[in-house]
Amino acid sequence: MNLEFTPEEKAFREEVRTFIAENYPKHLADFGMREDMEREDFLAWHKILGEKGWSVPAWPVEYGGTGWTPTQRYIWSEENARINAVMPLPFGVAMVGPVIYTFGNEEQKAEHLPGIRSGDVWWCQGYSEPGAGSDLASLKTTAVRDGDHYIINGQKTWTTLAQHADWGFFLCRTDPDAAKPQEGISFILIDMKTPGVEVKPIKLLDGGYEVNETWLTDVRVPVENLVGEENKGWTYAKFLLAHERSGIAGVARSKRGVEKLREIAASETLDGKPLINDFDFARKVSQLEIDLAALEITELRTLAGEQAGKGPGPESSILKIKGTEIQQRLTELTLEAVGSYGTPLYGNIANVPGDAGSNQYPVGPDYAKHAAATYFNMRKTSIYGGSNEIQRNIITKMILGL
Ligand SMILES: Cc1cc2nc3c(=O)[nH]c(=O)nc-3n(C[C@H](O)[C@H](O)[C@H](O)COP(=O)(O)OP(=O)(O)OC[C@H]3O[C@@H](n4cnc5c(N)ncnc54)[C@H](O)[C@@H]3O)c2cc1C
Repeated sequence: MNLEFTPEEKAFREEVRTFIAENYPKHLADFGMREDMEREDFLAWHKILGEKGWSVPAWPVEYGGTGWTPTQRYIWSEENARINAVMPLPFGVAMVGPVIYTFGNEEQKAEHLPGIRSGDVWWCQGYSEPGAGSDLASLKTTAVRDGDHYIINGQKTWTTLAQHADWGFFLCRTDPDAAKPQEGISFILIDMKTPGVEVKPIKLLDGGYEVNETWLTDVRVPVENLVGEENKGWTYAKFLLAHERSGIAGVARSKRGVEKLREIAASETLDGKPLINDFDFARKVSQLEIDLAALEITELRTLAGEQAGKGPGPESSILKIKGTEIQQRLTELTLEAVGSYGTPLYGNIANVPGDAGSNQYPVGPDYAKHAAATYFNMRKTSIYGGSNEIQRNIITKMILGL
């Protein structure tokens, strides 16, 4: 295994760095992903990449992918992380898109793939229910056949950013009498404007609006919106989850986060000296960097495997656990570094002092104002995409063979 980048890969890095410098929207520079953004800000970079033909790099070339190697895709994500870019959301690009081009029919591909590539159509994921998260196969939402329609009833929850969604992909029970719960589930695409679809906000601890309850009451959906075969949805759902998990490690973004943390700790002081010179704090930052370096090597090893034709297997669970633990520790240390300046959050993320639209004066340095909100928000990472406990179960079974 060679972990060095080749001259061609280094040249590729230069090419994408130049493209990003020349084309990334200036008003979103170093912005990161924040749930209070306007819809058009979420989609701005996606649309530019769609025009360039770079919005869905991992897709097969025949469906609009770039044909980049896994290493080139890694370089691409690193270069975007350097500027904390607002990347295309995963729901279309990394989740339902691959399901549609792999299991969908020609009409579905023609109808849905162009909008995902261009960023014109926003998708949401309707998997979880109040009683079905880790134990997803126990989901209760039903789709009952009525002529050439399904009638769908049920409640989904945690539907991320569904308030902006044009379409959703939903897991519904089509055979309540199947021998195993996994066998009676179907994967159905729903136009979110269909009568009976209701999206209700779930208010978060940080005051933000990122997730929803989605209620489905007698929603009539044409049978053409079924992906693949009826009652085989579990297969497509699992395929999608493997895609969701890879890339969740966020190594490149965490590397940028550590750089920022070092800058902050060099500006903040403790007993009159730069915080970064404090032995205990420096030790914690160094430990984080060591763990991140180890994770990066693991990710590069996975990439080398992918280059050699081995798909991401259960090792994506390791990347998910370590990646999200590091992301969380990073926000903990950032909050620790900025101290009380990290709390100017008065119950509403849209009213963070010093932000556009806020009528309150900023308190403390600019880098501190989102520290508490980000800290709270990042607690989610060990829960979504399959909780870290569930990932440990997968490692135990699939890697350790216990
Ligand atoms: C911010 C956020 C965004 C999300 N976005 C979406 C979305 O867009 N669409 C969507 O469909 N879902 C979404 N989810 C839901 C997410 O997939 C679920 O929260 C997750 O699968 C966990 O399910 P649960 O919340 O029901 O917890 P539970 O499954 O009830 O788990 C509770 C606790 O028990 C542990 N546990 C459960 N089973 C086991 C086991 N067998 N072994 C060991 N420990 C176990 C879990 O790890 C967890 O700590 C989102 C969640 C969050 C937090």
